[in-house]
Amino acid sequence: NRAPPQPHVALLATPGIGHIIPLAEFAKILVARYGFSVTIITLAASACEAQSALLSSLPPAISSLALPPVPLDDLSPDARIETIMSVAVVRSLPDLRRALSQLQSSVNLVALAADLFATDSFTVARELGLPPYLFFPTNLLALSLILHIPELDATVVGEYRDLPELRLPGCVPIPGPDILNPIQDRSNEVYRWMVHHGRRYREADGIIVNTFDALEPEAAKVLRQPEPGRPPVYLVGPLTAEGSKDAECLRWLDQQPQDSVLFVSFGSGGTLSMAQTTELALGLEMSGQRFLWVVRSPTDCGDVSEAYFTAQSKADPFAFLPEGFADRMREVGLLVTSWVPQVALLNHAATGGFLSHCGWNSTLETVKAGVPIIAWPLFAEQRQNAVMLTKGAKIALRRRAEANGLVPREEVARVVRGLMEGDEGKAARRRVRDLREAAARGLEEGGDAYRAIEEVAIKWKGTN
Ligand code: UDP
Repeated sequence: NRAPPQPHVALLATPGIGHIIPLAEFAKILVARYGFSVTIITLAASACEAQSALLSSLPPAISSLALPPVPLDDLSPDARIETIMSVAVVRSLPDLRRALSQLQSSVNLVALAADLFATDSFTVARELGLPPYLFFPTNLLALSLILHIPELDATVVGEYRDLPELRLPGCVPIPGPDILNPIQDRSNEVYRWMVHHGRRYREADGIIVNTFDALEPEAAKVLRQPEPGRPPVYLVGPLTAEGSKDAECLRWLDQQPQDSVLFVSFGSGGTLSMAQTTELALGLEMSGQRFLWVVRSPTDCGDVSEAYFTAQSKADPFAFLPEGFADRMREVGLLVTSWVPQVALLNHAATGGFLSHCGWNSTLETVKAGVPIIAWPLFAEQRQNAVMLTKGAKIALRRRAEANGLVPREEVARVVRGLMEGDEGKAARRRVRDLREAAARGLEEGGDAYRAIEEVAIKWKGTN
């Protein structure tokens, strides 16, 4: 009577710390609750300090494996990050096949779950007899959209940005210009990739999504219904990392009154233009509110990819702030340049608001901390996230940009005051605190997310 061999699952992550964080959290639960062991497979292109630190901090039952680098220098210099990632996956398939075969010969490999731009790995999984799953690290609005892209591609005439709005079942209508950034230019190669991924999503045996019902109740209702030709959807979120609790900025927060500080950060890769950095700085000053700002060097070319891959600022970002700003703000503002322990920061009692690029991990972290948002979207699906957070969940206020895209200092001051002191801000804070409760209930034993993870684990255990 031998015990059944320990189930092992391979999780494939495309570059970006924001993709690895939720996968790692998911892996931890599979290990701790259901006795799995896990290999997290990354692409060489994604090596950055924050990522190595995260991967090396995981429990021993979770190993990581970086596939060898593949040449990407033939891609056009302005290739979009989603294109780079998708091409890197295709070129890594022979190495992935080798890695998975090797795992199969040493462990009881039961499934491959790949993230949003790694769908071409499904072919390799099928060849090796492994059920392919999609791990989707963002929300149902984005998932619904991507699942519909092939159909939209056949029916929508012209560019999506020119649509008055796009309505997807159960989702808030998205105004044309706010629709997913990589489908906004149909002549760009990245658009073809998104159509391709939209088709391949339907080939998965299941779609695991890092969101929860209370945040997108109507979309959840729609996607929970089985639909022919669409894999079952498992809502396992909000899965977020714990992160470190030790940093100088937390000690600064200890000195500040409750709910008084606006945390300002644009995620691991977001940067502003020089002009926008100036307006944001002077707007924060005009608002008269306390703030903690993770400052990054401006980029005027609008290219996020380099910052995204390294999660680091190149030049001294303080050098780009308005003359005398840092000195004048000494009493009320803390400026930091490097990686901050964001989760601990959001959960600090002094943090009362989050000016955020609406990256999905950041959004889930702020929901779990019960902190309302100023939506300042930059790229990827962030603009449609901002629509969902302001119009759907109503936990965010959105700053208004001028026709040229610039958000002037007066507008910064208005929206910051509105969030930190206004009635709209108070209402958003109440709602985000309700969502915090709902999120916690879902993750507890017997809750929706808990049971969704269990369902996946049971399926995987029964696979072999
Ligand atoms: N993060 C952090 N410290 C920083 C910047 C980012 O801990 O200084 C973490 C943040 O908590 C989140 C992730 O990095 O978990 C960023 O993911 P998100 O999806 O919000 O945005 P992305 O970086 O992918 O644009």
